Amino acid sequence: MDLTEETLRVAAVLGSVTTLGPGRRLGVWVQGCPLACAGCMSRHTWDPRGGRDIGVHRLATLWRRALSDGCTGLTISGGEPLEQPRALAALLAAADRARRDVGRTDADLLVYTGWEDAEIAVSSPATAGLALADAVITGRYRAGEPTRLVWRGSANQRLVPRTPLGRRRYGPHLRRLADRPELQVRVTDTAVHFIGVPRAGELSALERDLAAQGVTFRENTWRP
Ligand code: SF4
Repeated sequence: MDLTEETLRVAAVLGSVTTLGPGRRLGVWVQGCPLACAGCMSRHTWDPRGGRDIGVHRLATLWRRALSDGCTGLTISGGEPLEQPRALAALLAAADRARRDVGRTDADLLVYTGWEDAEIAVSSPATAGLALADAVITGRYRAGEPTRLVWRGSANQRLVPRTPLGRRRYGPHLRRLADRPELQVRVTDTAVHFIGVPRAGELSALERDLAAQGVTFRENTWRP
């Protein structure tokens, strides 16, 4: 079977992401997460019936376009990518093929998952799903363990390079602390997206600041 015929249930796809991995990246947020971490900022991605189906072929086309625009990597987050291990494997395979085709083997593939390393190790579908990831950020979000480690939401989460490219690109960042919080704000037709890993209380503070200026949210994704 042609893996590009696979379909991924997706919450959002956004370009020029600079807060979830090194450089400027294409971001794909999958839809569906049963892990229900307390304090998750992306509760809208929990329901597997939400979002929309996008073919891997279409996502690979967006990735090729991003590469030709100079993008340095692909970040797959969620939601929980390992809830769709076959489609994840297909997307990573298509992304790997595309970067080779266009001579951009320097562009890395990063996956965020709430699964712990030990859970991945004993799951054949999860291990196969992540086979082509250059680096993985693993572990549940734990609101009680705040951190300044770059690209991680809580101190327990591990950044694990898995390939020579991943070790080159992510090795210098394994214990690096962020000097300041980094959040991107992107406004689309239907939503305001905060992209990145906020520190504890940062989103509520932002919401209060905006309210003081007369901007209120009809709903947000970080409160039950
Ligand atoms: S933090 Fe990640 S793993 Fe945890 S509930 Fe939210 S989307 Fe799922």
